[in-house]
Amino acid sequence: MKEIECRNLQTLKDHYPLLNKLISMEEILWLNPNVKKYKTGIGNSPLTQDNVEDAEERLKRFAPYIARVFPETKKLNGIIESPLVKIPSMKQSLEQNYQQPILGELLLKCDSHLPISGSIKARGGIYEVLKHAEELALQHQLLTIQDDYSILDSDRFRTFFSQYSIAVGSTGNLGLSIGIMSAKLGFNVTVHMSADAKQWKKDLLRGKNVHVIEYEADYSKAVEEGRIQADGDPTCYFVDDENSHDLFLGYAVAASRLKKQLEELEITIDENHPLFVYLPCGVGGGPGGIAFGLKLLYQDHVHCFFAEPTHSPCMLLGLMTGLHDKISVQEIGIDNETDADGLAVGRASGFVGKTMEPFISGNYTISDEQLYKLLKELVDTEGIHLEPSALAGMIGPIKLYKEGADYLLKHNLTEKMSKGTHIVWGTGGNMVPKEMMKQYYQKGLNVTRG
Ligand SMILES: *Cc1c(COP(=O)(O)O)cnc(C)c1O
Repeated sequence: MKEIECRNLQTLKDHYPLLNKLISMEEILWLNPNVKKYKTGIGNSPLTQDNVEDAEERLKRFAPYIARVFPETKKLNGIIESPLVKIPSMKQSLEQNYQQPILGELLLKCDSHLPISGSIKARGGIYEVLKHAEELALQHQLLTIQDDYSILDSDRFRTFFSQYSIAVGSTGNLGLSIGIMSAKLGFNVTVHMSADAKQWKKDLLRGKNVHVIEYEADYSKAVEEGRIQADGDPTCYFVDDENSHDLFLGYAVAASRLKKQLEELEITIDENHPLFVYLPCGVGGGPGGIAFGLKLLYQDHVHCFFAEPTHSPCMLLGLMTGLHDKISVQEIGIDNETDADGLAVGRASGFVGKTMEPFISGNYTISDEQLYKLLKELVDTEGIHLEPSALAGMIGPIKLYKEGADYLLKHNLTEKMSKGTHIVWGTGGNMVPKEMMKQYYQKGLNVTRG
């Protein structure tokens, strides 16, 4: 490291003593000192509730098409949504293993079981491809928004879309969503995969006629290459995971859907019934979009926390230092090597970080070992299989009770916790091959036994 950088790092450490623990890859909880009340906080965002509703309407327009080309979505009439389930046995197990009562109800949002691509990316990723397809078809007067969009399932449209291409950089799951959806519509699609991407994801995409390019470098490099490819080609559309407002809005639609599910379960969220949501975070778009949508709906009654691996805490680093995408974990000596491939991102989205600043409650880190332990525990207690990344949220309530007392006090929550609700966002897993899942479980068993 150059001397000047060393000096900067020392200054940063002096300002933010928690950085020392972050750098030594200890698990930490960071509480956001800049969190503001709803009215003064979120209002500065360039995105609004109208934008989220527009995204929701667009997904409804596409529903007849989705139901037709992805039969697994027929049950929900072409709306891509996942179950929200109570996990009482897992709650008990957490309480025992961590010697910490969890006041309030514990639920799991099973984005692991989202149709089409089995991860949270089936929200934003698919939405952005659909939005682009709609724009092209409207522009060329092949479609009006009053049409039944199932007409897109035709050779006429597939031939039309085949004149255009789509590119994306990914650690795996975004590639799956963009690749599967784009290929289905007829686009030429290229996925630039980082070194973390699992072989089965590449194989699956190649089997669907998706062009997969592999890199030995991490996510940021894969995105950069994708951007370069797209820049040189006016018919190529680049899905920009680091900056895309469309991706973000696609994720944000989750909030109104969740609200309905909570109402169906007769769970109240209000002044006296707080909601806590724990979201695994990579570059930030997925958890950011969802947190944004939830904040618009529940305002000061929802408290969102992001979870990252101890080896890839890019969003925590960006938020804590206020440097956002101007700093990477590698620059402070953290390797960005984690088995949580969906979260293996060294530099956070600046757009998301800045949007989160006034309202994210906090971020915490979790070790890979803990992820595997929790993975095994969730299988044993609830029979639910998630991929390692998706377990990052599971430790959230424990972290909050053990280390977040200041937060609860400051926001006048301590007395309300027994009437509160905790939602762990389970972000992926359903498409992981059985054999691979067995290995994950075995790792969990090994670290549990020590
Ligand atoms: C991508 C991903 C996330 C995080 O989403 P970002 O938009 O990258 O922050 C979390 N979990 C899984 C399984 C993912 O694939």
